[in-house]
Amino acid sequence: MHATLRLLEQTDFPAIARRAVEVLQVNVGYRCNQSCVHCHVNAGPTRTESMPREIADEVLHYLRQTHVPTLDITGGAPELNANFRYLVTEARALGVHVMDRCNLTITQQPGQEDLVAFLAAHKVEVVASMPCYLEDNVDRQRGDGVFQASLQALRAFNVAGYAQPGSGLTLNLVYNPQGPSLPPDQVELEEDYRRILGDRHGIAFNRLYTLANMPIQRFGSTLVSKGQFGGYMRLLKNNYRAENLSQVMCRSLLSVDWQGYVYDCDFNQMLGLPLLDASGRPIRLSELAAAELEGRCIRVAGHCYGCTAGQGSSCGGALN
Ligand code: SF4
Ligand code: SF4
Repeated sequence: MHATLRLLEQTDFPAIARRAVEVLQVNVGYRCNQSCVHCHVNAGPTRTESMPREIADEVLHYLRQTHVPTLDITGGAPELNANFRYLVTEARALGVHVMDRCNLTITQQPGQEDLVAFLAAHKVEVVASMPCYLEDNVDRQRGDGVFQASLQALRAFNVAGYAQPGSGLTLNLVYNPQGPSLPPDQVELEEDYRRILGDRHGIAFNRLYTLANMPIQRFGSTLVSKGQFGGYMRLLKNNYRAENLSQVMCRSLLSVDWQGYVYDCDFNQMLGLPLLDASGRPIRLSELAAAELEGRCIRVAGHCYGCTAGQGSSCGGALN
């Protein structure tokens, strides 16, 4: 795989600083039952990195200490981590809002038969990858059979109460483009999704988030292989919108890796750009209190243009 950090380090992206932490995003490991072409994690079935119990306990200790209101659990397929349900249960017991970044097909993997019921019982917000409402496009990006398996999973979430009026169970979908282009307008695409997934397949969801692909890891490497890296970076830069800068997610999100080191966002985690102390040593979550981060410079590089292009892009979709 082609490394992209050296192509991103020299940047004119504006300097930005952190605000108070509102979301703790924990990447519990890179193992996944899928190997999608756009994956910014380079996740897959053969990855072995996985957050152990003592780091999960450091995460819970941080939540207890700081009262950060939201825990966003990602991966890989986070549900494959042996401590996933422990983290969810304990964080919910603290009154923390928990989000699960779910690839949908994981619900049909052996040992995950009760996953939907577990998430519903703990009122976990599900943020599910669904990069198109057309079968061919989903299967091309995520693998053969993924579209049908995803529909089956979405129906199971609906049956469990997700996206049903008054249930308090939230099911949001995530779209990302097939290739090196910007996502379409989020509001219009959400209407298309609602019409097609609803009318054709009887599926309900709450919101659709559109995300730009990041020029790192597997997607970045594919761009390099195809000679499209420079063109994609120009596209991101040419569509820079300054008003997105105040809302990029790293302002209020803190990312943690499976070993307990902290980053400004999951993309920086994948590029190996941790928060550093005064002596240049990577900082651990166990060393932090939330207040220490306010005003701290964010480690920006060329990929940050992926967050500010067009309507903007974040874990919660478009920024404007
Ligand atoms: S994009 Fe998501 S589902 Fe696909 S390989 Fe990466 S972590 Fe797994
Ligand atoms: S890539 Fe990460 S650090 Fe850069 S602007 Fe986006 S969220 Fe912030």
